[in-house]
Amino acid sequence: MKIHNFSAGPSILPQEVMEQASAAVLELDNSGLSLIEISHRSKSFISIMEEACELALRLTGLSGKGYKALFLQGGASQQFLMTAYNLLEKKAGYINTGTWSTKAMKEAELFGKVVEIASSKDQNFNYIPEGYDIPSDLDYLHLTTNNTIFGTQYKEIPDTQVPLVADMSSDVFSRKWDYSKFDLFYAGAQKNMGPAGTTLVIVKEELLGNVSRSIPSMLDYTVQIKGGSMFNTPPVFAIFTSLLTLRWIEAQGGVEAIGKKNSIKATHLYGEIDKNSKFIGFAAQKDRSEMNATFNLVDPQLAAPFDALCEAAGISGLKGHRSVGGYRASIYNALPMKSIETLVDCMQVLEKKY
Ligand SMILES: *Cc1c(COP(=O)(O)O)cnc(C)c1O
Repeated sequence: MKIHNFSAGPSILPQEVMEQASAAVLELDNSGLSLIEISHRSKSFISIMEEACELALRLTGLSGKGYKALFLQGGASQQFLMTAYNLLEKKAGYINTGTWSTKAMKEAELFGKVVEIASSKDQNFNYIPEGYDIPSDLDYLHLTTNNTIFGTQYKEIPDTQVPLVADMSSDVFSRKWDYSKFDLFYAGAQKNMGPAGTTLVIVKEELLGNVSRSIPSMLDYTVQIKGGSMFNTPPVFAIFTSLLTLRWIEAQGGVEAIGKKNSIKATHLYGEIDKNSKFIGFAAQKDRSEMNATFNLVDPQLAAPFDALCEAAGISGLKGHRSVGGYRASIYNALPMKSIETLVDCMQVLEKKY
């Protein structure tokens, strides 16, 4: 049976990416060698790394604008500390929109003063805060563009005088945006780009070198840039698979075309959530995520029949995060419309039957 994979991460990747990645594990480009047994210093791998970095910059419209792309390790969680290690001298501002922002703040506190500029904690993070002042003396402002757990997403990029840093783990490459408003953004691969094991960082070079502390080599963006993301052995499989996804995005027409498809998918699902008397959306309507749709049953008693309907339809990974409960449909770039339609069908059957 065809499984419809709504998992929040690791999550669905395009089928052709899976096939190409599998083939490369057996043999890379008729070389007689596997992708995972060649030197990362070989010509073949260096060209993979270079293409992945170039493509990441091209897709975000940042080529030739003073940015560098890096493929690092340690997940987005390591970026929580690396951003602060490299950028926080005195004081940084954070917008707290959920679990991941909270964790980012906790790490940053090890390096300097952290100011919570705004928070949506008062309503269990079901909205994106608005109408706050951003002090002009911050080293940077950090935000999470898409809140994977709560299902909220920024629609507009806040205007700020200070450098803007973002965790884009769950919505990078999902829409057309003015990425040049960000001075640094990062994304763990496993939500929308590839397997776990690598993290994309895109950083404006002029942002670096402004803190007075010494930074361990592995955690120093400047060292990583100098080493071409190969200060040590990089996770070659995760980077190659991410490259395949980036090529797939470009072949689909880039982030603008992907973004249009994502909007259509999300609109279809939210339309049903709003129309269907058995369900209620979790996130504030204006802030709803086009990547993770969170919703609950009006009557929790219907969980067993709804879960059974979903299982019979081949739906996987729909369970909500424990901090929200209910359901979360992660509808990343590679999730086909067919999967949304299947979920909507199950919701409609539930409404009709009960
Ligand atoms: C999943 C996720 C993380 C954590 O990523 P790791 O790579 O597991 O460290 C951080 N931020 C956001 C927005 C996420 O969705």
